[in-house]
Amino acid sequence: MEDDMQNKVQPHVVLLSSPGLGHLIPVIELAKRFLLHHNFKATILAVTTQTSEAEREVLRSSSCDVIEIPVPDLPTLTTEVVVFTRLCLAMRATVPAIRSALLNMPLRPSAFIVDLFGTDSLPLAAELNIPKFFYVASHAWFLSLVVYSPVLDKLIEGSYVDHGEPLQIPGSSPVRLEDILDSMLDRNDMQYKEYLSIGNGITRSDAVLVNTWEELQPRDLKALRDNDLMGQVLKVPVYAVGPIVREPVLETSSVLQWLDKQPRESVVYVSFGSGGTVSYEQMREIAFGLEMSKQRFVWVVRTPSEGVTNAAYFTTGGSSYDWDGVLPEGFFERTREVGLLVPQWAPQVMVLRHSSVGGFLSHCGWGSTLESITSGVPLIAWPLYAEQKMNATMLTEELGVAVRTKVLPTKKVVGREEIACMVREVIQLRDGRSSVMMEKVKEIKHSAEKALSPGGSSDTALSQVAKMIKG
Ligand code: UDP
Repeated sequence: MEDDMQNKVQPHVVLLSSPGLGHLIPVIELAKRFLLHHNFKATILAVTTQTSEAEREVLRSSSCDVIEIPVPDLPTLTTEVVVFTRLCLAMRATVPAIRSALLNMPLRPSAFIVDLFGTDSLPLAAELNIPKFFYVASHAWFLSLVVYSPVLDKLIEGSYVDHGEPLQIPGSSPVRLEDILDSMLDRNDMQYKEYLSIGNGITRSDAVLVNTWEELQPRDLKALRDNDLMGQVLKVPVYAVGPIVREPVLETSSVLQWLDKQPRESVVYVSFGSGGTVSYEQMREIAFGLEMSKQRFVWVVRTPSEGVTNAAYFTTGGSSYDWDGVLPEGFFERTREVGLLVPQWAPQVMVLRHSSVGGFLSHCGWGSTLESITSGVPLIAWPLYAEQKMNATMLTEELGVAVRTKVLPTKKVVGREEIACMVREVIQLRDGRSSVMMEKVKEIKHSAEKALSPGGSSDTALSQVAKMIKG
């Protein structure tokens, strides 16, 4: 009774994050919006595995209440099990701990929000009789594909890769077969079944929040709400509340100090997300390519042994940066004046907001993508896994703010000449294609600012969600 009164005065939203910084960061940022813009209390249930220093720092600076839920040791989590499946198994194994955390909170929760891997915990909201939301920290086209996949599963027989034509999604662009998600590649693999259950799980929520905005994806969002299109499958409201990205924090770091000394929009920033890496051979080609481009660069270097090529689920303690023999001989000396190598981790949001940065060679994780386009920085799309190939296609073909390799970097090592050419195109030539790209990315930046400003589409959408929670 007292709790109900308290909830009316200050609603309490509980958000569940699956392991990995790529999942944790957008959940924390959404929680902060409830806290700062709606005066809600926000608690984050952060499911964690080995917590890296970067993750610790993100948790420390979250300004929300955080309850860490460690994943129990599971014999099923062997290294042969792919990351996607491991995430699903880990999240399933933590349901009892999540239940206990939810039921024992000093202040009763008013709403429960789960991220993409939180499907199994969604029914816990019923025990508290509170609304349950799905937060898709990616874009609307991806949301449509995930939700529509259980239908595609019935419509299409055999391997999707052999289907012969792009996958048709009602009201959205078709998804090219080379762009489909890794979890769709093998229909006999366990991750495919897990993936379908996520698609089904989303439809059982009370509403979906998606990290995009109306003006960026009007067609996809309209289709998601159209009862003759995606609305046939997803019958709950969809709120576009993005772009939800990290706010830059005032900090000094050697990277930023170095950037201060460089000319405006002259530097290409190279990074593959919170845990992504490329092969040794590819690292060497990137090094040669950057050198050949004769452009300035900041490169977050992570060798394959220091990270994993797939998602930020695992963190490594590797901190001896022995790049000798990895990068070309003499590379450090030759590029000392124009380049900066950063081991493992850079303050990415601050880097992208810096006026010296003019391009981003990125793995196109949605977090990095949003951070780049909301900073007005065009990209070199270098997709590696998850939905990044769709993101790269959207950035190059639909939004026109990126260039990309001729062949997918996961299929073949990208050569130094091609890398140099793309870097020069993004950074140096502010005429022709790159000036058009620059104009487009600035337009998107402004449209994002407008959507988030008071009365803008995303601000209004989040207010509607807040109203739903207040009841
Ligand atoms: N990030 C960072 N510094 C780094 C690498 C990554 O701050 O050196 C942050 C980046 O700003 C983004 C997140 O980690 O917020 C990565 O998320 P994204 O969705 O781009 O990719 P993922 O890591 O999930 O593949």
